[in-house]
Amino acid sequence: MKTIGVIGGMSWESSAEYYRLLNRYAKARLGGHHNARSLMTTVDFAEVEALQRAGDWDALGVQMAQAAAQLERGGADLVLLATNTMHRVCASIEAAISIPFLHIADPTGAALKAAGVSRAGLLGTRYTMEQDFYVGRLRERHAIEAIVPNDRDRESVHRIIYDELCHGVVEDDSRRVYQRVIDDMKMRGAQAVILGCTEITLLIGPADSALPVFDTTALHAQAAVDWTLSGHEA
Ligand code: GLU
Repeated sequence: MKTIGVIGGMSWESSAEYYRLLNRYAKARLGGHHNARSLMTTVDFAEVEALQRAGDWDALGVQMAQAAAQLERGGADLVLLATNTMHRVCASIEAAISIPFLHIADPTGAALKAAGVSRAGLLGTRYTMEQDFYVGRLRERHAIEAIVPNDRDRESVHRIIYDELCHGVVEDDSRRVYQRVIDDMKMRGAQAVILGCTEITLLIGPADSALPVFDTTALHAQAAVDWTLSGHEA
């Protein structure tokens, strides 16, 4: 079995979820006492969040590249970046390592396509919803059109991620906000909703949503385990 390297800490609430899911999928595939071989490096989210707000993506690219190189030196065969937002700097990561990098939007796009979805609502940080690195990849590589919430709703979705979910706070009122935003995207033609932030799975499950849910955390973790067991290129 190959070793999965995870760049974690953004936030650690979702990194813990990755750890659980990687091991759960490996056990589901292999049975017995099997788990996933993995290593995780954890960055300080306070620094990352401040650089995001300052728009200093170059500095963030350097940090993420260093973390990925650290995983490669530690023996990882594959790198996962356990946050959607920081895929903004995936080119810096890919340039820093010689092992494959599994982009979080790719298993998500593949799952949407397999389900026959061509228009999906996207929930995530405002960086993920508003910049082109994520929506563009879904469009260009997977022929998925992403529908994002309106201005006010994007603000609420973003605030709940940073002020609540990244602190492990899960509020019923916030779940209702997300449900209303999902309803609105459904009315605008979305056939499914992408949980495009790795903490949203803490708040919204399939039973909470009027649309089928595509959880990037789970899809990413599952694809990584599949990769390590099949030896396919990422
Ligand atoms: N985990 C979140 C994501 O998937 C947001 C935290 C971050 O800014 O990295 O986008």
